[in-house]
Amino acid sequence: MTDWFVETLHPEFSQGLTMDTLLYRDKSDIQDLVIFENERFGRVMCLDGVVQTTEGDEFVYHEMLAHVPILAHGNARNVLIIGGGDGGMAREALKHQNVQVTMVEIDRAVVDFCAEHLPNHSAGAFDNPRLDLVITDGAKFVQETDKRFDVIIVDSTDPIGPGAVLFTAEFYAGCKRCLTDGGIVVTQNGVPFVQPEEVTNSFQRLGESFADVHFYRAAVPTYQGGDMTFGWATDNKDLRHLTASELEARYAAAGIETRYVTPAFHAASFALPKTILDLMR
Ligand code: SAM
Repeated sequence: MTDWFVETLHPEFSQGLTMDTLLYRDKSDIQDLVIFENERFGRVMCLDGVVQTTEGDEFVYHEMLAHVPILAHGNARNVLIIGGGDGGMAREALKHQNVQVTMVEIDRAVVDFCAEHLPNHSAGAFDNPRLDLVITDGAKFVQETDKRFDVIIVDSTDPIGPGAVLFTAEFYAGCKRCLTDGGIVVTQNGVPFVQPEEVTNSFQRLGESFADVHFYRAAVPTYQGGDMTFGWATDNKDLRHLTASELEARYAAAGIETRYVTPAFHAASFALPKTILDLMR
């Protein structure tokens, strides 16, 4: 009998993955954590019944949320990751040799069990001396820290449970508070075809703190429902209008290896279909 993991994010629309080998399943103080092997996507990590990341397609998501803002900024030295317990985002951000990374994750159990059962995601990032790992609520951290960041990457769960506070205007104002002038905030912002309200809400709420709010996109197969959107917020309106040739120079200078994002795709990912533009109101 094949065991199936069936996602519970949407009552009327779901995806299933075979659990060929169950590696870990338990409740932390905060979330229900499952890690299993799947023939097509490799190791899969789920929180509270929702697929968070898989070995098969994580690089799409992590490269788009790490390299697009860091290379658009052009002189990032301090990067803050909110969430990101699997370590994949830290791995990509630390590819930039001049960058110090602070990672603020609410659930220690996610970090520990992903380091053990999903080691390819972090690939040593948790032992990197340029990483400062803080276990606390990201919403509290941005209101209290005296550190300042050039780029803030919100690699959160969906706006349910502990992640809900990371989609509020107060949290975005807290991000603005600890951002350097002209800095950039990017967010995991859901799949608009099945989560349209996330685009409208974030557009309004980010707009209360930032002069330039937009989205960019990529398709991550196990975030079902088509294109995923990434929120983009900054006061520097020029940063998302860099040309492919300007970006080529920056990607080359950074010397980073990627499997998905290219300078041309980076530039193109800000071009949005009407279905998403119509939600930005
Ligand atoms: N890529 C995934 C997605 O798009 O759904 C997110 C992956 S990452 C594992 C999400 C992380 O956010 C989890 O480790 C979770 O514990 C963390 N998280 C949720 N709420 C948080 C909060 N308020 N502060 C800090 N981390 C939080």
